[in-house]
Amino acid sequence: MTPAPVQLVWFKRDLRVADHAPLAEAAARGPVLPLWIVEPGLWAEPDASGRQYVVQRAAAAELDADLAALGQRLVVRVGEAVAVLEAIRRTLGIAAIWAHQETTGAFGHARDRRVRAWARAHGIPVHERRQTGVIRALASRDGWARRWEAFTAAPIVTPPRALVPVVIEPGRIPEPAEIGLAPDPCPGLAPGGRRAAESLLASFLAARAATYRRAMASPLAGWSACSRLSPHFATGTLSIREAAQASRAARARAPGPLREGIDSFLTRLAWHCHFIQKLESEPALEHRALHPACEGLRADGPGTERFDRWASGATGWPFVDACMRCLAATGWLNFRARAMLVSVATMHLWLDWRPVGLHLARLFADYEPGIHWSQVQMQSGSTGVNTIRLYNPVKQGLDQDPDGVFIRRWVPELSFLPAPAIHRPWEAGVSGYPAPIGDHAALAVSARERLWSVRRGEGYRRAADAIQERHGSRRSGMRQTGQRRRAAQAALDLDP
Ligand SMILES: Cc1cc2nc3c(=O)[nH]c(=O)nc-3n(C[C@H](O)[C@H](O)[C@H](O)COP(=O)(O)OP(=O)(O)OC[C@H]3O[C@@H](n4cnc5c(N)ncnc54)[C@H](O)[C@@H]3O)c2cc1C
Repeated sequence: MTPAPVQLVWFKRDLRVADHAPLAEAAARGPVLPLWIVEPGLWAEPDASGRQYVVQRAAAAELDADLAALGQRLVVRVGEAVAVLEAIRRTLGIAAIWAHQETTGAFGHARDRRVRAWARAHGIPVHERRQTGVIRALASRDGWARRWEAFTAAPIVTPPRALVPVVIEPGRIPEPAEIGLAPDPCPGLAPGGRRAAESLLASFLAARAATYRRAMASPLAGWSACSRLSPHFATGTLSIREAAQASRAARARAPGPLREGIDSFLTRLAWHCHFIQKLESEPALEHRALHPACEGLRADGPGTERFDRWASGATGWPFVDACMRCLAATGWLNFRARAMLVSVATMHLWLDWRPVGLHLARLFADYEPGIHWSQVQMQSGSTGVNTIRLYNPVKQGLDQDPDGVFIRRWVPELSFLPAPAIHRPWEAGVSGYPAPIGDHAALAVSARERLWSVRRGEGYRRAADAIQERHGSRRSGMRQTGQRRRAAQAALDLDP
């Protein structure tokens, strides 16, 4: 008897068996072929890097073990998606494809279009389910927060009890070099995989969240006070719903500061989806400034001295360099330090946000296109609707690293300097560390002037209002009245 065609579950950035609706639904219908496609084309994109792959690989290895315990190992194939699917169709037959919706960059969009056309041609249904609060083909932002609450409160999907084995060679997870990835040393990279995610969530909700609000702004204290779950949301080893429900349960029994920390964390879980929704609704924001008047403001990127010094952690502003070097060595930074790196690059150094964003994307082990490009646009003043913050690189160091501990760790050339002198080494006549790339205060004023002249332009406000309507949050706390919105549009915050 010929075996029945398989129910193919295509794992992408949802590398877990828990809270996985496509897996559960597929398993209820017949033998499941769980597939992970390693696409060399995707890994050749300019925003991809070896460290991101290492995190995904670890997640896929644990997923393989979890699926094996259910009865069927993860099937790994390297190649172009349609070619991989076609080979499986020819040998086993495919009854249906099950997957989570994914908000991706241009490569993923084009690949999904090709797969849908191929599936249609062969009469194979493709069933996609939501895995975050992001809503496909969203008509209006009204009511979005309510729908996010409902999505995250829905029951967690239990994994199937067992999978019927399929006769197929499982394949092997390739080494980074085998798919053309250049070496990407990252000695401080945090481990990927479901077990690490569970342990981070548990320690955060039990204790670490108590210092979260106080410490999240510092790259030093934030290392242990932030959840550090972002690479897990990016690879899907933990779902947003699992994190939200565990947080709500922990919150109910948590004392004061712990409860407040968990509340802030829950707010950020909603931000995760709020920002990805922007790319879902406007895929072009990966490449084009949201506000048309902000397009083409800057042109410079790699190859200019300003870019290369910023990218290599050699601006001569110690706190900025420490943040860049920490990121290069660990794949992680807290929110404020990320924002400052973009602000310094695109304001003080007047570099184009696109190559700036690409450089950071490759360094982020938690790279999530929807959050990343929305944030890069926001911090570079390209959205037209947010207050623009020009971070003062020296003041940020004094505020977030007053004793210079973080700088000493990442810029050892300066380790002999006491604080506060370590924040302004040029005043101490230090050798062996670059002189500052410029006078940051003067550079900030000049950036502000340039941005002001754009914001004063004809029709600027009208376009900004339309952007706010399309992408702005409607949450009560964040709702912007016309007056507040205009104030935000007019605001250029210098960090004196
Ligand atoms: C320029 C820039 C680029 C960024 N790129 C990314 C990216 O590629 N991937 C990514 O996950 N985050 C990105 N962020 C958002 C934020 O900095 C990280 O999510 C956070 O630092 C990750 O650490 P954590 O998991 O400990 O966060 P926590 O503070 O513990 O927050 C928990 C989760 O909430 C979400 N979250 C927190 N802050 C934000 C925020 N401001 N916007 C959206 N979601 C948020 C994340 O999913 C995070 O894992 C970026 C921020 C900036 C300014």
